[in-house]
Amino acid sequence: MMLLPRTRDPQVPFYEYTCSEPPGCEHCRDAFTELQRISDEPLARCPVCGSAIRRVVSAPNLVGSSASDLKPSNIEKAGFTQYRKIGKGVYEKSAGKGPGIISAD
Ligand SMILES: [Zn+2]
Repeated sequence: MMLLPRTRDPQVPFYEYTCSEPPGCEHCRDAFTELQRISDEPLARCPVCGSAIRRVVSAPNLVGSSASDLKPSNIEKAGFTQYRKIGKGVYEKSAGKGPGIISAD
């Protein structure tokens, strides 16, 4: 996959996905990021192994200014929830509403 410089098309949001159907593959077992156009449907399947995946971070409205806008405080302000990986298949919420811990088990 070719990554375009973010400045070239500020309308391209980043979506982070993680496998929701263990064991997944090397690509989706850990969270991976997809560049998608706003008009694109969210991915439902890992493009590599076809396992079900879920979106971890949804921040299309935040992309386009600068990476610093992805600070947890801004994510929370915008009504999004952000998780960070704390272990194998385990994510801890770092911003926003939602369960404090997400586990793949
Ligand atoms: Zn996969």
